[in-house]
Amino acid sequence: MEEILNYIGGKLLEPQSNQYIDNYEPATGSVYSQIPNSDEKDVAIAVEAAKNAFPGWSNTPASTRSAIMIRIADLIAANLDTLAAAESKDNGKPVSLAKSVDIPRAESNIRFFATAILHFASEAHIMENSAINYTNRKPIGVVGCISPWNLPLYLFTWKIAPALAAGNCVVAKPSEITPYTAFLFSKLCIEAGLPAGVLNIVHGLGASTGNAIVSHKSVKAISFTGGTTTGAHIAAIAAPMFKKLSLELGGKNPNIIFADCDFDKMIATTVRSSFSNQGQICLCGSRILVEKSIYEKFKTAFVEKVKKMSVGDPADPETKMGAVVSEAHMNKVLSYIELAQKEGGKILTGGQRVFLEGKNKNGYFIPPTIIEGLDENCRTNKEEIFGPVVTIAPFDTEAEAVRIANSTEYGLAATVWTSNLNTAHRVAANIESGIVWINTWLLRDLRTPFGGVKNSGVGREGGFEALKFFTESQNVCIEL
Ligand code: NDP
Repeated sequence: MEEILNYIGGKLLEPQSNQYIDNYEPATGSVYSQIPNSDEKDVAIAVEAAKNAFPGWSNTPASTRSAIMIRIADLIAANLDTLAAAESKDNGKPVSLAKSVDIPRAESNIRFFATAILHFASEAHIMENSAINYTNRKPIGVVGCISPWNLPLYLFTWKIAPALAAGNCVVAKPSEITPYTAFLFSKLCIEAGLPAGVLNIVHGLGASTGNAIVSHKSVKAISFTGGTTTGAHIAAIAAPMFKKLSLELGGKNPNIIFADCDFDKMIATTVRSSFSNQGQICLCGSRILVEKSIYEKFKTAFVEKVKKMSVGDPADPETKMGAVVSEAHMNKVLSYIELAQKEGGKILTGGQRVFLEGKNKNGYFIPPTIIEGLDENCRTNKEEIFGPVVTIAPFDTEAEAVRIANSTEYGLAATVWTSNLNTAHRVAANIESGIVWINTWLLRDLRTPFGGVKNSGVGREGGFEALKFFTESQNVCIEL
């Protein structure tokens, strides 16, 4: 069985303990590779390699760093099919999605920051006739990047690209549930000639490997994407060491649909915003609020479309809904569907595990599930489920929709459907979230600030925000 290896100091290495963890294929429920069960010894070696590489990398001209990163992006593009197939097998997502979204976006992430660093400038503050201040933005040193399983290579590269472009050396950990494309990526970094130790990828469990990265005193900043509880734990370790922190956490995103919207476009997009990647995107809209006058029309059209979405083998290019990521996650999602029914919810479609035939008979499949009739304050409507499950409910007034939208502890993203510009701007301004999409969903410009408010996170990724996070600002003041 294939062994995934750590990437440390430019080499592919076995874990010091020689211990491995089983890696499952969600669509079959079987083990297909072995992941290093790394511990603090592997992390210490990786941090040492990163420290040794830092003087060289931080003093390498930005144009040279950029050229190396562009070679990595080119290699991702050249290996699109292999990477997409690997992502689909490791995560359970349809190969068509991995090929059209995950891998192209991983390539864009690297390419974007490889060029953004060439345009990164800092400010000068002139004190008339007395002094000039300028801001010197210096790379931080060794930084830690920890990413989740839902968009494995996509979110992994979203973190490491700005860190590397800004001149830092990185110790990174992908989710142990989906490590495979990060392993393939380490081989591409070697092929592209990334100097040894600049990027180190240590595989293993969050509680051991992840914790060791966060706790290491030489790791000066942590960029983390994952669950809110894990984020709180990481913040508690990092704060007393005064590490810089960027936390992209969970969500419970509202999708507010007004009667005056473009109905057909809204329905087509709402199917995607609810169930893309089996609903396992932090930006999926899971609470759908519909203006009462079109509620029944919406319900009929939405349920009809969703009933036609069948789950299938993710490796089949025609499949639109694949497997959820793990058995544990499948059971968590199913337990929320059960809870929703106890809370008085009515399942309009989906609701039970699906068993496919043949090689997929033990796969973790849940059909797209729509629930109505729930109180806005019940647990199903408050807690993040992170699966193919949405609730729908009618609202009477804009004020009521905004109040319900803001009634969870999360504030990551919201979607608003209306053809009235005033409504759109007003609702966007009143919604407590880091991102608001109007008449669209998941349309991303990598230059924009990305992140959440409330329990959805601290800090912003994207564009120059990310380059600012991965640098320390120094004020230099010269008296004239
Ligand atoms: P987790 O918080 O469980 O894990 C995220 C990463 O942190 C994994 O690599 C995990 O490792 C690691 N980790 C776990 N415990 C620790 C620890 N004590 N110290 C350091 N690292 C640790 O999240 P999931 O992987 O389950 O991802 C789903 C969550 O991510 C959802 O809540 C989702 O909303 C959120 N998310 C947020 C996004 C955003 O941009 N705001 C985007 C995408 C997802 P391991 O897997 O090995 O345990």
